[in-house]
Amino acid sequence: MTTVQVCDACGTTLGELDPRLACPSCGGLLSLRHDAPAVRGADLRRLFDARLDDARPAYVAGGGTAARASGVWRFREIVLPDVGDDAIVSQPEGNTPLFRRESVAQWAGASSLLLKHDGHNPSGSFKDRGMTVALTQARRIGARAVACASTGNTSASLAMYASLAGIPALVFVPAAQVALGKLAQTLGYGARTLLVRGDFDDCLRLVRDGAERLGIYLVNSVNPFRIAGQQSCVLEILQQLAWNPPDWIALPAGNLGNTSAFGAALRAAKALGVVDRVPRLLAVQAAGAAPFARGFREGFAERRRVKAETVATAIKIGDPASWDRARRVIEETDGIVTDVSDADILEAKAAIDAAGVGCEPASAASVAGVRRMVAEGVIAPDARVVALLTGHVLKDPGALVDYHAPGSTRPLANAPVEVDASLDAIARVVDAVGR
Ligand SMILES: *Cc1c(COP(=O)(O)O)cnc(C)c1O
Ligand SMILES: [Zn+2]
Repeated sequence: MTTVQVCDACGTTLGELDPRLACPSCGGLLSLRHDAPAVRGADLRRLFDARLDDARPAYVAGGGTAARASGVWRFREIVLPDVGDDAIVSQPEGNTPLFRRESVAQWAGASSLLLKHDGHNPSGSFKDRGMTVALTQARRIGARAVACASTGNTSASLAMYASLAGIPALVFVPAAQVALGKLAQTLGYGARTLLVRGDFDDCLRLVRDGAERLGIYLVNSVNPFRIAGQQSCVLEILQQLAWNPPDWIALPAGNLGNTSAFGAALRAAKALGVVDRVPRLLAVQAAGAAPFARGFREGFAERRRVKAETVATAIKIGDPASWDRARRVIEETDGIVTDVSDADILEAKAAIDAAGVGCEPASAASVAGVRRMVAEGVIAPDARVVALLTGHVLKDPGALVDYHAPGSTRPLANAPVEVDASLDAIARVVDAVGR
């Protein structure tokens, strides 16, 4: 099987091992194009289903067992380059749960809501799905170092996989704007971490300009191998639903890499007869970082940029890199783009956390977006909806501690109670809880 890299804008093709991340003729973004697999439709579904037996190995020994257990590489025939198992850099990743929680469904007003929790990936966010492929590719092309700009999760994931691959990593993050859990992981996994005095958009500009000159392989979501890996999330959702697509899939949207990946996966699944129809996508931005939602409302007449501001740091992005592809995806899936306030994001998060599921703030935008669309009559209350949770609850402990701080007036706040070290004092608290 062969794979080439193709320019979205002008169709120029580059070889599979070409390290450049933009079209040499026009500067457009690159996508991977694979030969059609030997099997299609029901045969492909059976192939993917048979591999579920390998998803829980007794122990993981080296690339081979991890690659076969991976919920990303399971779908290799339709989204990934053809790489031998032992050359794959995998933890493994994917195989994340799809939860049904009555209280969250009620909060959103969507009776059939399911939560796909990609915060259950090894570094705690969906970024691992792309990073296993990006670091596999970095090793294939013999990269001497890898780099990314990040709001935190890409850097944590990169640091983890670079350590696994034995390749030095350099990350650019906005100073004083990265959630504590993400920064801590990045340092712990051993990436050289640059705190840039600027925002995410500044970091991305720097690393894009610098990577080629410095001979470093860039693994931001402009890297087509990352987008290819992220396509596995949708395929896994479809597989968990026995290949019966939901009506809607809702996801948080920042740089729009994941929105693009979801659309590309649905396009491939439909073209290969894996499913006979595709869900509509709902991309949800934070109101303070919503250039794409504004573009959607304006019929995408022009590309918008904003100075981003939101508590949801993972989607605090003002100039999304994958705008054009995400626009195509929204149009193809008859999708919707909306935005939600920080207050609504935090309330959705509190509802998800209190249901024993938990997620970071940006993740909750998907559920807040579903509630808004049900309230506006766009999504039917009984529609089959899957909302993606992108990151783990421990990614952003600061947001949790603030929300539940003593004296908090937030709707679902659960402030800690300071007590004297006496049984009487504790008995009074227990009485109040029992009531
Ligand atoms: C990266 C990230 C997003 C946004 O994904 P994009 O591909 O940038 O749109 C949302 N939530 C979390 C937790 C993330 O880490
Ligand atoms: Zn081009």
